[in-house]
Amino acid sequence: MKLKNESTLRSKPIRSRKIVTKNLSLYIHYPFCKSKCPYCDFNSHVRDGVNHENFLRAYETELDFFSEKLRGRKVTTIFFGGGTPSLMPIFLVEGILKKISEIWEIAEDCEISLEANPTSFEAAKFKDLRKAGVNRLSLGIQALNDADLKFLGREHSAKEAIQTIEIAAKIFKNFSFDLIYARPQQTLNDWSDELHRAINFGTKHLSLYQLTIEKGTKFFSEFQQKKFVMPDENLSAEFYEMTEEATAGAGFEGYEISNYSRKNFQCRHNLVYWQGGDYLGIGAGAHSRLYLDGEKNRSAISMLCEPNAWLKKVSESGAGIQKSEKISPDELLEELILTGLRLADGITSKIFQTHFEKNLEEIFDFKKLEKLAAQGLIEVSKNRINIT
Ligand code: SF4
Repeated sequence: MKLKNESTLRSKPIRSRKIVTKNLSLYIHYPFCKSKCPYCDFNSHVRDGVNHENFLRAYETELDFFSEKLRGRKVTTIFFGGGTPSLMPIFLVEGILKKISEIWEIAEDCEISLEANPTSFEAAKFKDLRKAGVNRLSLGIQALNDADLKFLGREHSAKEAIQTIEIAAKIFKNFSFDLIYARPQQTLNDWSDELHRAINFGTKHLSLYQLTIEKGTKFFSEFQQKKFVMPDENLSAEFYEMTEEATAGAGFEGYEISNYSRKNFQCRHNLVYWQGGDYLGIGAGAHSRLYLDGEKNRSAISMLCEPNAWLKKVSESGAGIQKSEKISPDELLEELILTGLRLADGITSKIFQTHFEKNLEEIFDFKKLEKLAAQGLIEVSKNRINIT
């Protein structure tokens, strides 16, 4: 689907409207890790002696700052991401959740996720995290053999990963774990064995990502120096197809390009991102997309990435905002298409009605879309467009 030149769009101007929405999702970014993984381009920093009392005050201040602009909302999902949020002291998690509950109503079935690394140090906190209110754990397992974990620069062993999955399974009804595949020298058989082992651990959700080499990472320079070879496009496609087949065969639904779940165990927080819902990001480097009170256009807000710079700005002005801008209707349309097409459900009339008060047929030229459908590239119906 070509976005530029609007080949599949109708020529009518598209107007966004003031949204009356009640639901709000919150993303809390904890920017610290024990060490930097060679493939990672997330906003993560390795620091000794972090003053967590200062950070709690800053998170609280930033939440207060936005409370004025998001009155009467109901929080339906909260996600602690990073970095490595399982390194957060429990009082910090508790303090942030307490502050949120003082500002907004928290839905009874609110999904509260936290990303954790599978070390014994972090597993020892799981019970307290559950008590604090976290009800979904997302474990960064990444591989189930020591050689690949070492290559990926991870701090845990395969044995530790498995023990942590077992501990998580006893405490959390809802837990997920991540694996990275299409690694250098990995064969389809290796991945098939590893994936089946992973499925047998009884998780309700898996995030399965192909290894990608991002600019600015250690892997980027090592790859350029030809220190390792990545699978070519054809092999990567075979890895993907095999992943889809193995997960489907085990009863998982591939509801997004890299995410697979048992029925009703999709990550509701991530669905908010992909379905155009309102989310507020708090903490260094966090991003938001939402309609602030009284504003017609959606805002895109990003926070300063460097933790100390973020802390300083929060203490000076109430929020560590680096950039805040209004998204034009065209930009919003493009974002909704790109995020929606990641989903098996695709983009739906419901989403476009929410943002533009228009259904799909009023926005897209269906005659042109049907040509793409005839080529087997997409599926089109009155209320839905999705990639096949
Ligand atoms: S633990 Fe996660 S966030 Fe931290 S460096 Fe590794 S991949 Fe990045």
